[in-house]
Amino acid sequence: MEKYHSPQVDAFVRLNTNESPFPVPAQWIDDVHRAVDSVAWNRYPDRSARALRESLARRHGVSTENVFVANGSNEVLQTLLLTYAGAGRTVATFEPTYQLHSHIARISGARVVHGNRKPDFSLDVHEIRRVLKEHTPHVTFLCSPNNPTGQVEPRGNVDAAIASAPGLVVVDEAYAEFSNFSMIDVLRDEGTLDAGSVVVTRTFSKTWSLAALRLGYAIAPAEVVAHMNEVVLPYHLDALKLAIGEAALGYVDEMNARVAGIVSERERLVESFRRLNVEFWDSGANFILFRPLPDAPGTWQKLVDRSVLVRDCSSWNGLDGCLRVTIGSRTENSSFVEALTDIVGIRPSK
Ligand SMILES: *Cc1c(COP(=O)(O)O)cnc(C)c1O
Repeated sequence: MEKYHSPQVDAFVRLNTNESPFPVPAQWIDDVHRAVDSVAWNRYPDRSARALRESLARRHGVSTENVFVANGSNEVLQTLLLTYAGAGRTVATFEPTYQLHSHIARISGARVVHGNRKPDFSLDVHEIRRVLKEHTPHVTFLCSPNNPTGQVEPRGNVDAAIASAPGLVVVDEAYAEFSNFSMIDVLRDEGTLDAGSVVVTRTFSKTWSLAALRLGYAIAPAEVVAHMNEVVLPYHLDALKLAIGEAALGYVDEMNARVAGIVSERERLVESFRRLNVEFWDSGANFILFRPLPDAPGTWQKLVDRSVLVRDCSSWNGLDGCLRVTIGSRTENSSFVEALTDIVGIRPSK
């Protein structure tokens, strides 16, 4: 089995793992200090994570019973797959997409089947129906915006998956705040959350500038949350994390301001890409997938040589020659554009 690996090399400008370039609010650090003092360290933490789940439920307008919290959304995914996948079961993904969906599914013992995106990385509704009919998967993954392609999944595709999936549909929304679409809003507004079998996952790692905290959650039917709670380890979330995760939710305005800053930098980067000798794809996330043209092998290494680190996706299925750049701070993005211009040059006029 190949392990999941995100190579790290030394570079000044680090735009390879979709982290936020911005620090957390200084006031939240004070909250952390206060929380350290107030934790009853000799006692087990609140196993049901009630206060944090209540805050998340309020944020999304759902009930506390619809919220499951874990150590990063990866642990949410793992718990989901231990609960609903495993030996003798089938999990479907549509490639290229987030590698950990199939990786964790395989670890659970499940068989993984793939549908394919079109060359422009959009997903054909017929392909969704074909895969679900042919393989009747117990769990079907969608990712919106999709990592690493950046595209927001059109509502029609999500609906098609929901209509033809025999099992759970998991929509990974790690980047939803950078876009203008969320299935959580749809399920809440239509009142279909508890009636259906859709699970939406979110994380504090990207929009909340808290990759180091390891905190993620699912919004799901109450029955699904109850089943996941039977599977997850007891006391998997420590008391400090529960307290400071909840405190983070007190800084929604700051989070929204950071997201707006990143979205406007994303648009600036898109403008630069239009001028450069690259192919790129529209993104609703905090990263952009691009392909140096006409054929620029070694672009990743040449960027590293200029101390700019991006993600090399060129060996991933369907992503020949592609690189993925995280939107960084204004200066980081400018350094990236300068280095890339140096390497690939300006797009020739037609
Ligand atoms: C970054 C990312 C996650 C986040 O995982 P955490 O464990 O919460 O850090 C989840 N899904 C996708 C698609 C991602 O890109």
